[in-house]
Amino acid sequence: MTTPLPLSSWARNISPSPTLAVDAKSKALQAAGEDVCGFAAGEPDFDTPAHIKEACEAALRSGKTKYAPTPGIMPLREAIAAQYADDYGLTVAPSQVVVSPGGKFSCYLGVMAVCSPGDEVIIPAPYWVSYPEMVKLAGATPKFVLCDDATEFKLTPAQLEAAITPKSRLVILCNPSNPTGAVYSRAEMAAIVAVAVKHNLYILSDEMYERLIYDDAQPTCVATLSPEAKDRTIVVAGFSKTYSMTGWRIGTSVAPAPIAKAITEMQSQMSSNVTTFAQYGALAALTEKEKTAAAVAEMLAAFDRRRKFLHGALNEIPGVKCLLAQGAFYLFPNISSFGLKDQEFCERLLETEKVAAVPGSAFGAEGYLRLSYATNETTIEKGVERLARFCRSLSA
Ligand code: PLP
Repeated sequence: MTTPLPLSSWARNISPSPTLAVDAKSKALQAAGEDVCGFAAGEPDFDTPAHIKEACEAALRSGKTKYAPTPGIMPLREAIAAQYADDYGLTVAPSQVVVSPGGKFSCYLGVMAVCSPGDEVIIPAPYWVSYPEMVKLAGATPKFVLCDDATEFKLTPAQLEAAITPKSRLVILCNPSNPTGAVYSRAEMAAIVAVAVKHNLYILSDEMYERLIYDDAQPTCVATLSPEAKDRTIVVAGFSKTYSMTGWRIGTSVAPAPIAKAITEMQSQMSSNVTTFAQYGALAALTEKEKTAAAVAEMLAAFDRRRKFLHGALNEIPGVKCLLAQGAFYLFPNISSFGLKDQEFCERLLETEKVAAVPGSAFGAEGYLRLSYATNETTIEKGVERLARFCRSLSA
């Protein structure tokens, strides 16, 4: 047998997504007949609202089956621009909106549009798992800033200031946060953005969970914080989480014109347009406002009930400490008191109690678990009971 030829340095250096890996393992156990309580998937458990599916179906039947413009069909780009104006008072031309195959690809192209080899990218930890890998694929270097539960997992302006070097090019912000669910106030975000502006950094603001927000928390669109912020920010969002459209693969970026053009040109060579008829479904999500608002409100109410229940139940477990996050559909309890590495904690939890959770270390923060409550109430209740039993066994 001949020695296999080596793969590229890109392929050798990439780490596969740990969240998808835990979810795949949990689904494989389930397929093998195990009763698994899965808290791993970052995916709403609701079906896509009917009117969105119907609009997609109608588009498919009417022959919207050909290539479309790379950055998206114009009515969708116009509707996205109009929604930014309505929701945040942000004025952007439709030409500044790019529709990409998933928010993940929007983030990647955003990084690729502004980073060159040798640049440094500041990423607050806990971070969404894909950011460091995207930065590495751009030939740049991720620089992590650890934010723990003492500061509600939020980056402070002083921490950002201290992380900046002459090589710093971009800071990636995620608000509301995956994995912690933390939501920055507008004032907190403005103070961070002021530091980025002062040091002339680009900002990638991942606002994927902007509408999944609870209590009195408010979303902040970073591009609205100041004219200087608008000139340097790529705002990423999408349809996956808010409208339960994860499999549709539709993400969006809104950026200054030269960046939107660069993103479009890269996309034109790498993937072309998002599936044409799927874009008509997305369009219905934005134009059939009443139906969409009703569907989103229903999902949000369910998430909120689960959030409160899970938060209460976690804090009743001796040794577990959990903040009540105000966004997304994740809680990020601290399990460091059990004296186990979080990876081992999760492996044993899955093995002995058939509960799937993602270790905090996958997000750059050892000592925590990420639990997604985008799953049904029965699973949550059963899963948290099993987690409590597991924790008791460790303390015994
Ligand atoms: N950004 C964050 C913070 C996410 O959690 C996710 C999905 O998990 C994405 C972006 C990407 O979403 P999409 O499924 O549209 O690629």
